[in-house]
Amino acid sequence: MRTKKKDKNDRYKPFENLLRTRLAELTAHLDQLRKEIVIDDEVDDEATQAFRNNNREFLMTTMEREVRNVAEIEQALQRIAKNAYGICVTCETAIPDKRLNAIPWTRLCVDCAGGGINSINRRLTPRLGSPLLDSR
Ligand SMILES: [Zn+2]
Repeated sequence: MRTKKKDKNDRYKPFENLLRTRLAELTAHLDQLRKEIVIDDEVDDEATQAFRNNNREFLMTTMEREVRNVAEIEQALQRIAKNAYGICVTCETAIPDKRLNAIPWTRLCVDCAGGGINSINRRLTPRLGSPLLDSR
């Protein structure tokens, strides 16, 4: 049986599932957004056009964010494949499961993410904002 060979990968299976679910959701949503952006070109009246321009901008911002998230997720899946998942890329300590559950695509432990040095990462993890800020 396959289960005899206990792989390190098994430990990250739940996170892999989380990542794949999220990836599927994002991909579907991005498809939908692309369609919405393409649809609206036959309008003449200004108010509608203005509204659509705003809406388009919003859609673009959302898409950019989601495309970035897709890239993060794909990188995380690659790290799982290479047995490098769950290790902070900065300090190389293990990232706690609790954090991986909240942000399965994270590359940084809480200390490194909240240290204030990694402003790039702070931008990438807004949804983790409160626990990080609380520990200050
Ligand atoms: Zn770290």
